[in-house]
Order: sequence, then C-alpha cells, then structure tokens
Amino acid sequence: MTPRSISILGATGSVGSSTLDLIRRDREHWRVVALTANGNAAELAKLAREFQPEVAVLADEAKLPELRDALAGTAIETAGGTQALLEAAGRGAALTIAAIVGCAGLAPTMAAIEQGGTVALANKEALVSAGDVMTAAVTKHGATLLPVDSEHNAIFQCLAGNDLCDVRKITLTASGGPFREWSAGQLETATPQQAVRHPNWDMGAKISVDSATMMNKGLELIEAHHLFPVGLDKLTIIVHPQSVVHSMVEFADGSTLAQLGQSDMRVPIASTLAWPGRMETVCDSLDLAKIGELTFEQPDERRFPATRLARQAAEAGGAMPAVLNAANEVAVAAFLDSQIGFTRIVAHVENVLSRYSPAKPASLDDVLMVDAEARDCAHMLMETA
Ligand code: NDP
Repeated sequence: MTPRSISILGATGSVGSSTLDLIRRDREHWRVVALTANGNAAELAKLAREFQPEVAVLADEAKLPELRDALAGTAIETAGGTQALLEAAGRGAALTIAAIVGCAGLAPTMAAIEQGGTVALANKEALVSAGDVMTAAVTKHGATLLPVDSEHNAIFQCLAGNDLCDVRKITLTASGGPFREWSAGQLETATPQQAVRHPNWDMGAKISVDSATMMNKGLELIEAHHLFPVGLDKLTIIVHPQSVVHSMVEFADGSTLAQLGQSDMRVPIASTLAWPGRMETVCDSLDLAKIGELTFEQPDERRFPATRLARQAAEAGGAMPAVLNAANEVAVAAFLDSQIGFTRIVAHVENVLSRYSPAKPASLDDVLMVDAEARDCAHMLMETA
C-alpha cells in the first residue's frame, strides 16, 4: 500500500503529540511531509529525526539556527517564519492536521484548505474567527474538513448517514472544567496553576484556561454553528462532568444518538486519520460499569458567562466571533502571565465586544485585520483598566 502523506501543523503541542503517537504505531502507512512548531526547536528537531518529514518549520524565525544545528547532517529541509509556515502547509499533503493554537493557525490552515486535500481541524479559533470565509474556501477548493475536537467529532460521527434537515437538536457536552463547583467568590481567587489542571483532559495551557472559564464551550458552539449548519437555536450545551458522552444529536423522530469514549484525544484523532474507515488504537475500552454514573446538569451562565457571550457573538455574526476570539486570546495570555485575575478574562472579552460592530469579513485578509484590531483594542483596554 502506498503510504498516505500527512502534515502536522503544531506538531509539538498536545494534539500534535497525540497524532504523532498514532502515526508512530502505524508508521508504514504514513509519509510525513511537514512538521511545524512555533519556537520549540529542540522538540521539533527530535520529532523530525524520528518522523523524517520533508520539511521542519518554526514560525519563530529567531529559533531557526537552533533547529538547523539540531538537524545538521540530515536530508530534512528547515525553514522559519510565517511565510515558510504557509509554504509548508501548502505542500499538498493528502491530510493536514491543523493543531496550532489560536488565530495564528488560521492562515496556515487556509493554505492547506486551498490545496483541496483533507484538513483535520483541531484549531477551533481559526474556524471561529474566519467562519464563512473558511467554509466557503473548503467548498471552492473541494477540500474536506474533518472535526478533531472531541465534541464535534462525536457529532460528525452521530450525523453519518443522516440528513441535517432531520436534526431536532445538537447537544454539546461540557466537563465544566476544574472550577465547576466553585462559588463566584472562589473564582476571584483562581490561579493559572489551578486553571490549567483540567480534571479529565491533558491539554495545552490556552485551551485548559478556556475550559475553566467555559469559553472553550462558547468557541465550540460557534465552531458547531459552522460545521453543522442547523441553526443556533438547535445547538445546546449541557454539563457532563465525567466527559464520557462527547456530544449528542437528537433527530426529528425523537431518537438521540451519542458518541461515547475515554477522555483521550487519540480517539477522535484516530477517527479523522482513518476516516471514512476505522483504525486500531491502544486507547482503553470504555468500562461503563466501572465508571458507574453519568450525570448531566444545566450550565450556570451566572458564574460562567462565556457561553452567553459566544452565543451573542454568533447571533450578531459578521466579525463579532473573530473579535470575541481575539479578545479572549489576549485576556487568557494576560491571566497566564498573572497580569489579570481569572474572572477578568471573560469580563474583558465582554468589554471589548461592547465597543465593536465591525463589518462582515469577506476574505482571509479581512479576518486577519479584524483579529489584529481587536487585539490592539484588547491590549489598550487592559492597560487603561
Ligand atoms: P498546545 O499549546 O499544546 O500546542 C500548540 C502548538 O501550536 C505547538 O506546536 C506550538 O508550538 C504551536 N504554536 C503556538 N503558537 C504558534 C504560532 N504563533 N505560530 C505557529 N505555531 C504555533 O495546544 P493544544 O495542542 O492543546 O491545542 C491546539 C489546538 O487544538 C487549539 O486550537 C485547541 O483549542 C485545539 N484542541 C485541543 C485539544 C487538546 O486536547 N489539547 C482538544 C480539542 C481541540 P511550540 O511548541 O513551539 O510553542
């Protein structure tokens, strides 16, 4: 069998590592085209030596000499900077794993989409920001977008063989994050160390904080709105602390389909690697008798207002989701840097959103401009607060 070509954007991250773990166990089926990272030259070089990509790219050009030294004597090309990242993403791999964190992943993801191959999307911020611009590019270039996010992957699996017209309701499940049971007063004292300690999932710092504020579920609501266009009124969120049911679809006849599995990102990633088939993984079987209890509760938008803000941004449409995302990225970085408190994150996003009503972006450049302006606004408001 001819190996299938694959590029992994964000190879050194949590999703990147989980993907490479699956490739490692199924090595002969894959030919790695590009591996990319931001500045972690040592880890990228280690992965490149193991997986022998055509090219290894760092977005942070200043770290390129370190990568070059580490890969000296190999046949692997090295490159640095945003243009090199776009070139690597556009090398036409049959499958691209889009796993860069934040809107920084948008342009490379679009470059991969423009090649018309299959893009497995973990980088939710890219779709939240670009929305219709990205889905139009998928259609225009004949690309296939597969959702990696466990909830959207679950919905995608539940919808297989069904018609969107028959969907009565889509329910995104949310773990509730590490502060699910904290009072409003306690939330004021939450530290970055506590916020990144997710009870069920082992993830990068940014998405872990998003899970703690529930902005992750807000971003996912907007992501689902674009991936499964059934209308916002049919998208709901329910808190499910065990993270076993990854999401559900209810159909017109009253049937509800759900996808269940361990809290292991290799499960949804494997489903995109093998799609439309299945592959063997070493992921644990689900032992429901051992888990014993699956519980569900309504989200508390008084303590966790992020989902309300995200829904409002999605309803307003246009550039508002891009503004929401940019403001959130700035606020999360400031929280991780101990510049602002936990509850200020979402309050700051709301403040930025209240000052904006930009026009609908029509192109990638428009989206990137809105993103840059919203970041400037978020930084300025933070300085003057
Ligand atoms: P990580 O922080 O673990 O990894 C991020 C990756 O992106 C790293 O390879 C990093 O490189 C690279 N990167 C960071 N900034 C830039 C930049 N400016 N330009 C180019 N590359 C960059 O993130 P996760 O793996 O946790 O998340 C990745 C994406 O997947 C996010 O959008 C997240 O929301 C989504 N996701 C993650 C899940 C998870 O379980 N982790 C689950 C579902 C979705 P370097 O190492 O050099 O910094």
